[in-house]
Amino acid sequence: MNLLNKNYVKNVMLLLVIAIAVTLLISIPVLAAVVPPHWSYGGTENPTQWGKLSNDFALCELGRDQSPINIKNTVEDSPAKIDFDYKPSPLVVVNNGHTIQVNYAQGSTVTINGKKYALLQFHFHTPSEHNINDKASAMELHLVHRNEAGELAVVGVMLNQGLANPLIAEIWKQIPDVGETNTVSDRLINVSNLLPSKKSYFSYMGSLTTPPCSEGVSWNLFVEPITVSKEQVETFAKIYQVDARPLQPINGRTVQLHR
Ligand SMILES: [Zn+2]
Repeated sequence: MNLLNKNYVKNVMLLLVIAIAVTLLISIPVLAAVVPPHWSYGGTENPTQWGKLSNDFALCELGRDQSPINIKNTVEDSPAKIDFDYKPSPLVVVNNGHTIQVNYAQGSTVTINGKKYALLQFHFHTPSEHNINDKASAMELHLVHRNEAGELAVVGVMLNQGLANPLIAEIWKQIPDVGETNTVSDRLINVSNLLPSKKSYFSYMGSLTTPPCSEGVSWNLFVEPITVSKEQVETFAKIYQVDARPLQPINGRTVQLHR
C-alpha cells in the first residue's frame, strides 16, 4: 500500500468515526424521549413495581379504582343495554411485547347505556385477569373502545378451555415476531365471532390493567364465557406465558349485574 492509499484509508476511517459519533449524539436524546419506560409481568419490572418505574405509572400503585378485580357480591341492576355494531375489518395482528393485539378498522361501535364508543383494538391475557366468584379462566379477551370525549370502555370476555375458536385459530396463524405488525389486507375478520350468545354482563368502574393504569375506564365483562382449545392456550402461552396483572382491591366499589 503506498502513502497516498494509506492517507486515503486514514481519512475514510476518520470520517466514519465522526459520522458514528454525530449519529450517536443526535439519536441518544431522541431515543430517550421516544422510548417509554419498560414494564413487565415478571422480574424486577413486575406488576408490584409498576408504580415505581415512572412518574407516569404512579396510579398503578396509588390508584383506588384499579383493575382487574375478583367479581363477587354483585348488585342486580338495569337489564342488559349493550348493543354491538361490529363490522368486518382487515386482519392486523400486532405482537407488542406484552400481548397479541388485533388493531380494528374504524367504523365499529358499541353502545353501552346509551353511550357510543368506537372499537380500537382487542387483545388477550393468560390466565384471565378478572376472576368471577374467585375463579380465573384460561384466558381473557379485552375489546378496547373510546368515545368522542376520550372515555374508555372495555368489553371483557372470559375464555374457558373447551372447543377451539375458529377466529382465534385464524389470528394465531398470523402472529408476527415481537415488535412487528402483520397486516393481512385480503383477510376480513369480524370480532362479533368472539362474543358469547347471552348478553348478560357485569359492569364496574376501573382502570387499564397495564401501565399507566389510567382510571375512569368503564368495564363490562360478559357473564358467559366462550371457549378456546388447550392447544390454542398453549400456542399463546409459548409467546406470553403469563400476561395478567394480579387482582386489585375493590375498595368499596359496586359491581352491577345486567341480565
Ligand atoms: Zn387487557
